[in-house]
Amino acid sequence: MRLVFLGAPGVGKGTQAQRLAAQEKIPQVSTGDILRESVKRGTPLGRQVKASMDSGKLVPDEVVIGLVREKLSSPECAQGYILDGFTRTMAQAEALDRMFTETGTTGLDYVVSFEAPEEEIVRRLSGRRSCATCQTVYHMEHDPPRREGICDKCGGALIQRADDEAETVLARLRVFDQQTKPLVEYYQRRGLLRRVDASESIDQVYKRLLAVVHGTSVA
Ligand code: AMP
Repeated sequence: MRLVFLGAPGVGKGTQAQRLAAQEKIPQVSTGDILRESVKRGTPLGRQVKASMDSGKLVPDEVVIGLVREKLSSPECAQGYILDGFTRTMAQAEALDRMFTETGTTGLDYVVSFEAPEEEIVRRLSGRRSCATCQTVYHMEHDPPRREGICDKCGGALIQRADDEAETVLARLRVFDQQTKPLVEYYQRRGLLRRVDASESIDQVYKRLLAVVHGTSVA
């Protein structure tokens, strides 16, 4: 199964990707997680992208396209994957299409667009916390950890991402509207798009997602 998850920051696509990846035993490829890890480790890539990430801007297309190209050619992605947070611009969508053509791989099965009203998205982002060690995501109200401030999975400290602070959230939502939303139409024209109403609980959204990817309902 090869999937792309599209949606505004904070809509919950990462949480859904994490669950589906575990159930289907395919990797969740989150460009945001890969980039954050590089920043944390202080690699040359991390130093290059930190300022863009902190201010809520996208990092250059060629950087993320290179990362994804390398990742998708690795053996762990041979049976499929969920691309979480890629593609985000038209140039990325076209580059992904070219990767399939170049490698003779069958393309995407679906592009799932997670959709929720902006007020809900802002509320979710302000309550979001993630593990500084393993990146597992929690929400203070909807999906809290068992012990406050501590990751259930690895015991790491839960932190608020710098780019989830109020002023950066608005910048990220604008970037999404301008650069990523046009992809919804791009994939719709190609018959790949499936919309999922992401405004309800994590469990309800997951049920809708399963129905979509297993072809039992076409949104
Ligand atoms: P995310 O965790 O998906 O919200 O991504 C966090 C940040 O990483 C974004 O605000 C961008 O700065 C950067 N980023 C992640 N994925 C991409 C992408 N596909 N293209 C450009 N920048 C990205």
